[in-house]
Amino acid sequence: MTPVIALVGRPNVGKSTLFNQMTRSRDALVADFPGLTRDRKYGEGTYEEQRFIVIDTGGLTGTEEGLDIEMARQSMQAVDEADIVLFLVDGRAGLTAGDEMIADHLRRSGKQAHLVVNKTDGQDPDVAAAEFYSLGFASTFMVAASHNRGIRSMLEMLLPSAEEREAADRADRYPGIRIGIVGRPNVGKSTLVNRMLGEERVVVYDMPGTTRDSVYIPYERHEKQYTLIDTAGIRRRKNVNEAVEKFSIIKTLKAIDDAHVVILVIDAREGLVDQDLHLIGFVLDAGRSLVIAVNKWDGMDPEARAQVKEQVKRRLDFLDYADKHYISALHGSGVGVLYESVEACYESAMAKWQTNRLTAILEDAIAQHQPPMVRGRRIKLRYAHQGGSNPPVVVVHGNQTDALPGSYKRYLENTFRKVLNVTGSPIRFEFRSAE
Ligand code: GDP
Ligand code: GDP
Repeated sequence: MTPVIALVGRPNVGKSTLFNQMTRSRDALVADFPGLTRDRKYGEGTYEEQRFIVIDTGGLTGTEEGLDIEMARQSMQAVDEADIVLFLVDGRAGLTAGDEMIADHLRRSGKQAHLVVNKTDGQDPDVAAAEFYSLGFASTFMVAASHNRGIRSMLEMLLPSAEEREAADRADRYPGIRIGIVGRPNVGKSTLVNRMLGEERVVVYDMPGTTRDSVYIPYERHEKQYTLIDTAGIRRRKNVNEAVEKFSIIKTLKAIDDAHVVILVIDAREGLVDQDLHLIGFVLDAGRSLVIAVNKWDGMDPEARAQVKEQVKRRLDFLDYADKHYISALHGSGVGVLYESVEACYESAMAKWQTNRLTAILEDAIAQHQPPMVRGRRIKLRYAHQGGSNPPVVVVHGNQTDALPGSYKRYLENTFRKVLNVTGSPIRFEFRSAE
């Protein structure tokens, strides 16, 4: 998969200059396909072994009268087909009516674009960018195309890393909801994997290449597709006498990364131990949604059960948004309900929300409880849009957001979580400040 990057912007903002820097070829690769206007240039570039294609869409001039309909149509087609759209503006000239028109055009096309402020050489980048924030783009890059500045770090952000490419390959191979089964040795992961698979139709799965690899098991349940990521490796455990395998943190981290939903298995007989909390920390850092399965609940006396529940309540207080189930993988009790939590977590992790909805929630939250004053001025939060999934990211634009206290961020997260009904999954907030 070679990503296609489309450059749009009014004349003279530096599209050709950026194009040449990205492709490092003046004209060699510029293809002359029939049916394309001569203004449409195609080139090929590479960044860290990731190939990409750049299109300079010359056709959106941003002057209404002067807009060549056919050229604009072709440019918009290129925009539609691109994986990444870069909207270039001139940091020296400042915001112009032409920029606003193109921004509007892009917005109406529904295609997400990144704002690129060019010609930031010899300028304070924050000042150069400030007036463009009102255009409301998801992300902004500062570059100086003619000085080849900022371009590499922009590509770094835009293009998938080698790891992400590997993960995407796996995602293609393993369809449906990917459930990572994670926990310390001996808590009952293999038993749970066997129980969850039960009678379900297991498609085929690869044996792990090395002991650091998990087993990925695609299967169907009630006509839905899932893949269990089994860190315990059920195949190697067929022999009862085999030693408990060594716990591999790398394997666990990879499983968490690859999963949509992580089921963290805890041994009720041992209670919640520090290592469990470390694993929970990894899941949260990765931004994955989480279901807690307290296992071996069978045959425990009521007093011991009450103790474990109390401990879970106290130490996992910060995880009040994650479902906790008390199960017996050995007997199968409570296992079915895990699937309900997994479904809810998946929905939350992958949810898509409209900008106007997020902005309305933000406005309500502010009306209920204003952000504090900083240096005599109130912190302003203007609007919000979604910046990603798994974990869901909410990008909030405003002023002085750097000074927003943690308590207010938590308030926002709780409010959004409640209104959007997000279970099991963290919500990441990113704040963009115009000053
Ligand atoms: P296009 O019409 O959008 O393709 O713009 P060009 O790439 O032809 O650039 C227009 C003018 O801006 C040229 O004179 C470039 O040398 C100049 N230019 C492009 N990038 C930069 C930059 O980063 N800094 C400065 N100072 N000038 C630039
Ligand atoms: P893993 O290392 O996390 O994969 O753990 P295993 O699935 O191999 O289980 C470790 C031990 O715990 C085995 O002896 C299992 O039979 C036992 N075990 C697993 N689940 C349960 C359970 O729900 N109840 C009880 N009583 N024992 C369990």
